[in-house]
Amino acid sequence: MSSSTPHRIALVPGDGIGREVVPAARRVLDAVCERRGLALDYAEYDWSCERYEREGAMMPDDALDRLAEHDAILLGAVGYPGVPDHVSLWGLLIPIRRRFQQYVNLRPIKVFEGLDSPLRGARAGEVDFVVVRENVEGEYSEIGGRIYQGTPQETAVQESVFTRAGVTRILDYAFGLAGRRRGRLTSATKSNGIVHTMPFWDELVRERAAAHPAVTWDQEHIDALAAKFVLRPERFDVVVGSNLFGDILSDLAAAIAGSIGIAPSANLNPEGRFPSMFEPVHGSAPDIAGRGIANPLGTIWSAAMMLDHLGHTEAAADITSAMASVLAEGTVRTPDLGGAATTGELAEHVITALRPLS
Ligand code: ATP
Ligand code: MG
Repeated sequence: MSSSTPHRIALVPGDGIGREVVPAARRVLDAVCERRGLALDYAEYDWSCERYEREGAMMPDDALDRLAEHDAILLGAVGYPGVPDHVSLWGLLIPIRRRFQQYVNLRPIKVFEGLDSPLRGARAGEVDFVVVRENVEGEYSEIGGRIYQGTPQETAVQESVFTRAGVTRILDYAFGLAGRRRGRLTSATKSNGIVHTMPFWDELVRERAAAHPAVTWDQEHIDALAAKFVLRPERFDVVVGSNLFGDILSDLAAAIAGSIGIAPSANLNPEGRFPSMFEPVHGSAPDIAGRGIANPLGTIWSAAMMLDHLGHTEAAADITSAMASVLAEGTVRTPDLGGAATTGELAEHVITALRPLS
């Protein structure tokens, strides 16, 4: 596989350990691209909470227009002690997700050989599923408000927004993904308690299921589903949920896999009309930033998802299998995995583990 026009990649390391793990992932990308004859064209941006402290904005005014010229975005993490979370959320992440219609949030979960899951029964190779979260509508809306403030009747109201178009496109993505995987989909619902939006969601699940007859599907109430994630994580293939349910399930699932340091995510615009964004699940980790000991695997795996999204399936698989063999071998590990290796050493080891091309 080779490409003549290089993909344009925006690198946004962000804050804290984002600045350590993104360069590490870049080295792995360079190595795999060289082997496969691929070319990536990078532009790096210093948009971050640190920039916010310095200049009063996370990003410049034309940031989204500049990102629009790229094929994909690789983000480290944004967050800085003293800068409230809503600044990084509303100053960078949400504008990017909305402008580029990144309506799919994808979080693969795998228990790797050589890594301990906190679940006794979760064995490597058996737990391997993907949480598909609706990323732009649902429960996270700005519609609502407060009345009778400061009185005993004080009341807060928050509206959820579920549109036929928005739910249909996330379900079609999830059913399509299940069809390319093991053909099983589970929908997270709560239509016994939430009586308007969730029955609508369920109705659309049945409708889209009919359009994807090769996929076996079921649905579970979110409370029972959370329990099953813990009790029988090996039974899932693709799990689809609304913005809120998907958010909760993806953090739960990342914990099952054993370490936040290896968990990847993608914010996808599946049609490819706009750039998609790839980022590790973890944050800027100010407690370990600057020491060179952050685990780069979450970002390296996110970079593999980026290659996959750009159509370079084999190059992506090169990275994930190198990661798996490094974890199984277990000699080079960062402190979060019980070792003493640095970020750079672990990344170099992944590069060394890239299998020779046959
Ligand atoms: P933010 O506000 O940016 O989300 P946070 O402190 O809320 O930051 P994380 O940055 O995800 O959340 O950190 C949670 C814990 O996990 C911290 O103790 C951190 O050191 C650890 N951690 C997170 N990512 C990594 C990593 N890649 N390697 C090692 N430890 C990590
Ligand atoms: Mg956080």
